[in-house]
Amino acid sequence: MSRYLGRPDPVEALARLRAGNVRFTLGTSPPARALNGGVAPQPFAVVVGCIDARVPVEAVFGQGIGAICVVRSAGHVLDRAVMGSVEFAVTDLEVPLVVVLGHDDCRAVAAAYEAVRTGRRPAGARQYLVDEIAPAMPTAGSVDYSLDEATRSHIHRTVATLRQADYLKEALAAHRIDVVGGIYRLESGHVEML
Ligand SMILES: [Zn+2]
Repeated sequence: MSRYLGRPDPVEALARLRAGNVRFTLGTSPPARALNGGVAPQPFAVVVGCIDARVPVEAVFGQGIGAICVVRSAGHVLDRAVMGSVEFAVTDLEVPLVVVLGHDDCRAVAAAYEAVRTGRRPAGARQYLVDEIAPAMPTAGSVDYSLDEATRSHIHRTVATLRQADYLKEALAAHRIDVVGGIYRLESGHVEML
């Protein structure tokens, strides 16, 4: 039994995010402080997104203060800090939904896309990002895929990696939690769930 009254199930949580994204695309989102009556509710989702400045996660999902947890890294790359943050949101805050939010024209995915094609990897810590994204490229060795396909594949792979976590297995099987992916379209502001 959840400690939190009114905790939505994963289906309801996703519906809230979809409805918020519609408000965002229509330009009808109220100011963040006005949402939720100024009272911070229990967060109902954790979103793993990219650092891209064009994808402000709370705004994109039309959510105010206190509604969602957000973890961001370039290309939504998972490392232990990101994984630990998601685990914290799920186990301690009991959020029922994990969303991986990619987007089109992602520079981190594009860097990995180029690295796979040219064999040239960036220097420094960016190399870690590229190396983490590169295995998501479809049909390694082939150049017959688009950047959009690579982006989708990377989102699917990130979702699959998160779903493998031991602490999620029981809750996933019981449908108490879900892990889903979406892609944010820069032009329309629409989040397309995958
Ligand atoms: Zn990005």
